[in-house]
Amino acid sequence: MRQLALKIDVDTLRGTLEGVPALSALLQAHQVGATFLFSLGPDHTGRAIKRVFRKGFLGKVKRTSVLEHYGLKTLLYGTLLPGPDIGLKAREVMRQVAVAGFETGIHTWDHIAWQDGVARATPQWTRQHLQRAAQRYQAIFGNPARLHGAAGWQMNDSALQYLHTEGFAWCSDCRGTRPFLPVLADGTLGCPQLPTTLPTLDELLGCHGLDERTVASHLLALTREEAPTGHVFTLHAELEGLRLAHVLDELLQGWKAQGYRLQGMAGFGAQLDTLALPHCALRTGTVPGRSGTLMVQGPPQ
Ligand SMILES: [Zn+2]
Repeated sequence: MRQLALKIDVDTLRGTLEGVPALSALLQAHQVGATFLFSLGPDHTGRAIKRVFRKGFLGKVKRTSVLEHYGLKTLLYGTLLPGPDIGLKAREVMRQVAVAGFETGIHTWDHIAWQDGVARATPQWTRQHLQRAAQRYQAIFGNPARLHGAAGWQMNDSALQYLHTEGFAWCSDCRGTRPFLPVLADGTLGCPQLPTTLPTLDELLGCHGLDERTVASHLLALTREEAPTGHVFTLHAELEGLRLAHVLDELLQGWKAQGYRLQGMAGFGAQLDTLALPHCALRTGTVPGRSGTLMVQGPPQ
């Protein structure tokens, strides 16, 4: 059977409180699995406002109406308003997701700090950030995290080392074409990577003349052909959980009709022969529709 992993990035307090329950209900109605990856510490989304000065961000604001998706309050967190602690304020919502039978994992501690800082961060800063997220995850769920998907697809080598030594089962920290074993800087192999293979809705909207009515059929055309190693699709609680829920509904129907089994990262990974996965390094790259650089899968070594 064709395999498609649904990976849900939860970036903000509002996305956790409002987007996550809505997504959980929609996925249950479709009887499909998914992995929810949580931001477990402070919501400093407002600090992203400095990205306005970065090339490409203004276009994205216009295309995806950031204000409408995130809400004014969210955009002020960490600037004019103090950033609320998502893991403290929304722990019940997070627990309910696990109770409902979905997979859960770590997205980040502080999304903005990680996204803007990890590429140049010291090993000490990186480990401390990951440890905070891991401790909070354990406090909320009562067991250690085994799944990780990096905020903004930003990583560094010590983060990959940490995930490996801490015994994570599956990670989805980059963009790419198929699952692989990451080659670390010292030549050893890290925790298996399940890269995001498909474009996200916010990357597609406003590009190629796509809008909310046509974007689902564009994505479904990309998954029509057989992909031997399956697909990984990344959703955002702030988008598909709120205003773009109708697009997700269309996608889930379409993927089921195409014969895909929709599940979380661990369910998807369990179908793979880990020893037979290619060995690839993570590199810095770009993807169409997203400003700045992110981690991408390198060629097999
Ligand atoms: Zn994110």
